[in-house]
Amino acid sequence: MQKLPTYEDVIAASARIEGVAHRTPVLTSRTINDETGAELFFKCENLQRMGAFKFRGAFNALSQFDERQKKAGVVTYSSGNHAQAIALSSSLLGIPATIVMPSDAPAAKMAATRGYGGKVVIYDRYTEDRETIGNELAQQHGLTLIPPYDHPDVIAGQGTAAKELFEEVGELDALFVCLGGGGLLSGSALSARALSPHCKIYGVEPQAGNDGQRSLRSGSIVHIDTPQTIADGAQTQHLGAYTFEIIQRDVDDILTVSDAQLVDGMRFFAERMKLVVEPTGCLGLAAARAMAGELKGQRVGVVVSGGNVDLDRFCSLLHS
Ligand SMILES: *Cc1c(COP(=O)(O)O)cnc(C)c1O
Repeated sequence: MQKLPTYEDVIAASARIEGVAHRTPVLTSRTINDETGAELFFKCENLQRMGAFKFRGAFNALSQFDERQKKAGVVTYSSGNHAQAIALSSSLLGIPATIVMPSDAPAAKMAATRGYGGKVVIYDRYTEDRETIGNELAQQHGLTLIPPYDHPDVIAGQGTAAKELFEEVGELDALFVCLGGGGLLSGSALSARALSPHCKIYGVEPQAGNDGQRSLRSGSIVHIDTPQTIADGAQTQHLGAYTFEIIQRDVDDILTVSDAQLVDGMRFFAERMKLVVEPTGCLGLAAARAMAGELKGQRVGVVVSGGNVDLDRFCSLLHS
């Protein structure tokens, strides 16, 4: 392992992404404030380039490549937003990208990844291991592997969203962050601890995949099978070595919510705030609503992590 990223690394990441990533808006809603009795501030990463915060970490990592790494290229494995984030960042920086995706990944996601110029390598998720394939490609072709969450530069980049939130609204009493592998949560925690030391930091994951909660409570990383949940951005099987260390040190608790609560969140964002938010992006709001009784009178941040959901799926989820 390299050394753990710090808030200094988040500051450096902000400088690298400035003018390239969007400084996304922080939105509020009277309706939700009345409902919860708290004052909520939504950091809208669904409005980030390529539709999710993942652009921050990917661009931060790739913009530090040296000449040799740039020429050889980057490799990663992801079927979701990290794939698009690497593909977009690499095309902006002129770095060849290879993305390992499962053969059953949605056609739209493969097309989007190719559309940004990424080369897609297909594998069978039932018989092959994506990490092994990524590592082999890296070794055979001298590519640099940038995994979706467990990498210091990725974590530091993801931390820039919360940094912007605190800079804009000042200190908060609580912060709710969507949790998959923990890149966003650990990066957010670095910013929160530096800019709002007394803020409670909560990770939120789907009930069906509560490995993060079990890991935090047991003190060691719990591995699970791919969880069945509509929150496809949080279907990770385990936290990472870097992300877990930061989460253990800095995060107050990890909460879980049901798929039905996520659908309520999607409906709220669309109806009341005119925002299209993907199921995973609703984790923070769902947990804040469930905890409203304890948040009365508090200033609460919610990271809305992404908005990549096709409209047919969006509609069918609302009607399910
Ligand atoms: C990747 C992703 C997450 C989870 O992020 P981690 O860094 O893996 O914890 C949450 N929401 C969206 C929209 C994502 O794309």
